[in-house]
Amino acid sequence: MRILITGAAGFLGSHLCDRLLADGHEIIGMDNFITGNPDNIAHLAGNEKFQFFKRDVSNYIFVPGKVEAILHFASPASPNPLSKSGYFNLPIQTMKAGALGTHNCLGVARRDGSRFLIASTSEIYGDPEVHPQAETYPGNVDPVGERAVYDEAKRFAESMTMAYHRFHGVNTSIVRIFNTYGPRMDMEDGRALPNLLKQALLGQPLTVYGTGSQTRSFCFVDDLIEGIVKLLYSNEHMPVNIGNPVEMTVLEFAETINRITGNTAGITFMENARSARDPQRRRPDITRAKNILNWEPKVSLEEGLRRTIPFFKQKLGLA
Ligand code: UDP
Repeated sequence: MRILITGAAGFLGSHLCDRLLADGHEIIGMDNFITGNPDNIAHLAGNEKFQFFKRDVSNYIFVPGKVEAILHFASPASPNPLSKSGYFNLPIQTMKAGALGTHNCLGVARRDGSRFLIASTSEIYGDPEVHPQAETYPGNVDPVGERAVYDEAKRFAESMTMAYHRFHGVNTSIVRIFNTYGPRMDMEDGRALPNLLKQALLGQPLTVYGTGSQTRSFCFVDDLIEGIVKLLYSNEHMPVNIGNPVEMTVLEFAETINRITGNTAGITFMENARSARDPQRRRPDITRAKNILNWEPKVSLEEGLRRTIPFFKQKLGLA
C-alpha cells in the first residue's frame, strides 16, 4: 500500500514508518516538528520507499497521488505542565491537530477511498469511574478541565471518524492507545518513563508524584505497534483498546526502574503538580483486541526497560 502517516517523526509515528516499510509498503510521512523530532526518521533518508513533507496537518493537506491508507498520529501527547512539548503548553495546536487535522485526513481518505486509522487514547476515558476500561465505557471527562484540550480533541476525532464512516462509508478504525514506552520517546516531555529512567541512569532519586499510589499499565512500543498494524489490516470500525493490562502503581513502576538500572539513589516523593487532573487508575480491558485481532502484549516491563535503556544511555551520552 501507499500509506500516509501524520506525526511521522514522533515516537509512535516513526516506529510505524519502520514497521510498515518493513512490511513492504510505501510511506509518505508528515510532521511539523512541534513535538516530533527529525532524529527519529533520520535513518530513513535515502530510502526510496519513504517520502517526507514538513507540514502542519491542521491546514489543508496536499498529498500528491492516491494513498491506500492514512494513519493520523500527529498530536502533542504529554500531560506534563512543566514540559514545553506537553499539551498544556500547546493547547490550541493540540485541539487543532485532533479536530482540524482529523477532518483533513478524513477528507483525503474519502477522496482516495483509503483505509483510515486514528490514534485515539485512553484519555478519552478521563478519570475513569469503571475499572478496567472497556471500549463500551463512555468516559468521565470534564470539557473545561485542564486535560480537556487533549481529551476532547481526541473524543471529537473519534466522533468525526465515525461520522465519516457512517455518512460517507469511509473504511475507518480507531485505536485507543494506553501508556506506551520505548526507544525514541521524547526524553524531555516530562512523562513518567522518560523522567524516571533518565533520573535512574544518572544515579538520581526518582521523582514520584503524590504518594505514587495512582496506577498505570505500561506497554512496550513493539507490542503496541503490532496491535496497531493488526488493526490497520483488519476490517474493524469500532474502537479497540491497545495497551498492556499489567497494572501497577507508579511507586512500583519507579522501584522496578531502580532495580533494573541498579540505581541506589532511591525515590523522592514530590507534590503532584497535576493532582486535580491525574487519573487515579488506568488499565485497558483488551478483550476486544484479543478476540478481533488475536493480539496481546508479549514484552514484560523488565524486558521492555532493558530494550529501552540503550536509547536513553546514548541520548544521555552514557553509552
Ligand atoms: N509521574 C511521576 N513522576 C514523574 C512523572 C510522572 O510520579 O516524574 C506520574 C504521574 O503523576 C502519573 C503517572 O506517573 O500519575 C503517569 O504519568 P505520564 O506523564 O507518563 O502520563 P499519564 O499516564 O498521566 O497520561
